[in-house]
Amino acid sequence: MRRTIIVGNWKMNNTIAESVELATAIAEKVGAAKPECEVGIAPTFPALHEVGKVIEWSGVKLAAQNCHYEDDGAFTGEVSARMLAAAGCSYVILGHSERRQLFGETSDIVNRKVKKALAEGLRVILCVGETLDERERGVTGEIVTAQVVEGLAEVADISNLVIAYEPVWAIGTGRTATKEQAQEVHASIRSTIEGLYGEQAARHLRIQYGGSVKPSNAAELFGMPDIDGGLIGGASLKVEDFMAIIEAAG
Ligand code: PEP
Repeated sequence: MRRTIIVGNWKMNNTIAESVELATAIAEKVGAAKPECEVGIAPTFPALHEVGKVIEWSGVKLAAQNCHYEDDGAFTGEVSARMLAAAGCSYVILGHSERRQLFGETSDIVNRKVKKALAEGLRVILCVGETLDERERGVTGEIVTAQVVEGLAEVADISNLVIAYEPVWAIGTGRTATKEQAQEVHASIRSTIEGLYGEQAARHLRIQYGGSVKPSNAAELFGMPDIDGGLIGGASLKVEDFMAIIEAAG
């Protein structure tokens, strides 16, 4: 049985003080509700340490939004997986489409980050997803499979991996994949993983859906057999919406 996982990706939003305020509110509600699902939040780098302190007691996990693939050195502006682990992070989101599209992250770079983060003991949320053009050209399956295969090259153990299927056309657009569209891609990701790592690893792998998840569509998405929770952008910045999504996940 896979434990559903809901993670809020705060992107480049909130100062440290604002992050602590939001995280405190989420921790109080999650701590009181004790949901069955796993819950995480991913603030910006400067806020990680302070947010970590206010959520620790509640069981809410601390996640980062990116990392570098080297431990340290002359990489101005970057933060390593080792530093994130030391800052108290449990998870790191890698290969988000905004990183791929706006910051030129190739699958090779994503793969190096995945390997480094796993080696540092972090759990990885590997994001994959097709653009609108790719969906319209009917190549969604190929694109997503390639991102999974390339992102996981030379990764032997996926027990600390979560995959997030995030169709690029659904991120921050208000356009959500239908539950059938999402389920189809999730099932295909699971079968790719089965081909790479075997039936048991595929059965245990959690695959989140991300892309304009909101309280009104969360339950139907999470009700699909291969959808094991959500990576939530905009709606994770509002306590009530985020909590409603967590409730929908059970
Ligand atoms: C995301 O950025 O991972 C995301 C899914 O964003 P939104 O929920 O705002 O579409």
